[in-house]
Amino acid sequence: MEDHTEHVCIICGHAKEEGITIVSQFICQDCESEMVHTDAEDAKYHYFIHQMRQISMQTHV
Ligand SMILES: [Zn+2]
Repeated sequence: MEDHTEHVCIICGHAKEEGITIVSQFICQDCESEMVHTDAEDAKYHYFIHQMRQISMQTHV
């Protein structure tokens, strides 16, 4: 079974097999669940937004 493909997470930069793909960018399961639980007041939230903006820019090309 060669079905497991590793993708590089755009948040943590680690290669993971499990995760989600948003606008063709991969986010691993750990970061995805962390995003869901991240408080809007938390500094990490802004980091995620920053990463998302970069994705949008890349997609725009
Ligand atoms: Zn990750």
